[in-house]
Amino acid sequence: MPALFLGHGSPMNVLEENRYTEAWRKLGSALPKPEAILVVSAHWYTRGTAVTAMDHPRTIHDFGNFPQALFDTHYPAPGAPNLARKIARLLSPVAVNLDQEWGFDHGCWGLLVKMYPQADIPLVQLSVDSTRPPAYHFELGRKLATLRDQGIMIIASGNVVHNLRMARWQGEAEAYPWATAFNQHVRDQLAWQGPAEEHPLVNFMQHDSAALSNPTPEHFLPLLYVLGARAENESVSIPVDGIVMGSLSMLSVQVG
Ligand code: ZN
Repeated sequence: MPALFLGHGSPMNVLEENRYTEAWRKLGSALPKPEAILVVSAHWYTRGTAVTAMDHPRTIHDFGNFPQALFDTHYPAPGAPNLARKIARLLSPVAVNLDQEWGFDHGCWGLLVKMYPQADIPLVQLSVDSTRPPAYHFELGRKLATLRDQGIMIIASGNVVHNLRMARWQGEAEAYPWATAFNQHVRDQLAWQGPAEEHPLVNFMQHDSAALSNPTPEHFLPLLYVLGARAENESVSIPVDGIVMGSLSMLSVQVG
């Protein structure tokens, strides 16, 4: 199974059709249908690592001031408690909380509603531990890689450039130069080979434009799970790329 990082952008993508949602739709119809999906979402940023372990996770509308139609959209995919337990075993000795509270946040269902609109594929979400350094997230990706051989699709959801404070909400926004520079840096280093501790994207905060591009790291870190899950010399491609609102990268990455 390929592993994907998808730039999710605004929740409005749920209601809109644009070249990003078209790319997600295309991935859903072109890729082999997975047995189950594991989503690592920027919007579940926790102390410790958790995985949704309930039979019927709820749809979480984790945003405000959007049209009612967005709050009326639900994604009733079944949970996969067995997969959740398998993930907890795989990540050992990391203590993984088998969560009964969370559900699918918009980093997850906002993409899948386009990719797999039937909502019939068992789905779990993994949280991003806010207390750990980037190398830890890369390492978890490495541990999760074997799921790909078992028909499970890993989808990480975030944005490699994510600065909402500087976002230009009105009209056609030109990308900030630092946003373009950082996005290009990410693209250039996707196929990097070598020890994880030296990976330029594990050390992403060292880039000149990193602090402006990611004032907080949670939207970048999901990418490291997909890079960690990549086999040596495995192909990397870019289903879609672009910067919206000046400071939000919609770059998507496909491994395998
Ligand atoms: Zn987001």
